[in-house]
Amino acid sequence: VERVFSGVQPTGNLHLGNYLGAIVNFVKMQETHNCIYCVVDMHAITMPVDVWGGPAELARNTREVTAAFIAAGIDPKKHIVFNQSQVSGHAELAWIFNCVARIGWLNRMTQFKEKAGKDRENASVGLYDYPVLMAADILLYRATHVPVGEDQKQHLELSRDIAQKFNNDFGDSIRSHGFGDGLFFPLPEPFITGPATRVMSLRDGTKKMSKSDASDYSRINLTDDADTIAQKVRKAKTDPEPLPTEEKGLEARPEADNLVGIYAALSDRSKAEVLRDFGGGQFSSFKNALVELCVTKLGPIAAEMKRLTADPGYVDSVLIDGGERAQAIAAETMKAAKDIVGFIRKS
Ligand code: ATP
Ligand code: MG
Repeated sequence: VERVFSGVQPTGNLHLGNYLGAIVNFVKMQETHNCIYCVVDMHAITMPVDVWGGPAELARNTREVTAAFIAAGIDPKKHIVFNQSQVSGHAELAWIFNCVARIGWLNRMTQFKEKAGKDRENASVGLYDYPVLMAADILLYRATHVPVGEDQKQHLELSRDIAQKFNNDFGDSIRSHGFGDGLFFPLPEPFITGPATRVMSLRDGTKKMSKSDASDYSRINLTDDADTIAQKVRKAKTDPEPLPTEEKGLEARPEADNLVGIYAALSDRSKAEVLRDFGGGQFSSFKNALVELCVTKLGPIAAEMKRLTADPGYVDSVLIDGGERAQAIAAETMKAAKDIVGFIRKS
């Protein structure tokens, strides 16, 4: 059975984009793969402390993401759910990969440019190195399938480049350590699928919905109550035209396209089908229907998250148990990787 790895940062404000672009696919892949779902706390601290909120917030958000995974339908007994920092192999393998990846490769990463903003000199080294740590996350488990949102495509390509260069750089050593085909690390495949691989901000149809967007009105959080969802959807940016009757009509109308896309994704229908019902009508009535759909779909998840986070004992036990099982897999990869590189170790 092929192995899946993916992660979500505990940076607060889990939103509809995280849910539709990533978590829904995490849930689906449980049927066909062995899955490892990680709360990537080491990635979260790459931004300035005031952005991720400090130690108490980090712990709270780690538990919240874990609760969201479980509430959405991830089974932490059959699969593995844990927080990244518990398994030291992530950092160890990232170091080896730092010496494989090239500065020129990292310089092309658009997420760094966006997140560092204008004051690039003041960004953390960790933020720059984020994609290398991400490659280590995946390859530590030699995972082949990585469900992510569209925004992570470039990072996945970098992971493949790192895997390939490691296999090339250490080819002879890899073969002499019993990997006859010379492929120690598999080339991980991005799994960017579903009807909403890039959910856009409610305030700006050209920007992706993000946890770290300063405006809470830009996103629908998984924990928002019905009134908040209603307010956010009603305030969502639109254009003055009525909804188009065909999907073609959504071109060059990013806000309309986004709202129709969200409706389609949550109701398991195509955009064309949604437009068959709402095309030609005004946004106001469509928005009312969208609010109702969001509340119906997200309400039960929010309630379950609340129930789960009320007892951190259970959530923590999931993370610790998952951490132990992840560690067992990671240890095997790290032993082999160290031997391949030539690091002496206790056997
Ligand atoms: P941050 O702003 O802190 O980076 P984020 O919203 O981008 O937060 P991440 O934890 O970085 O969330 O990403 C978790 C997963 O959610 C990734 O697979 C990512 O591709 C996916 N994702 C994030 N935003 C969206 C979005 N707007 N639409 C679809 N998928 C998304
Ligand atoms: Mg992100």
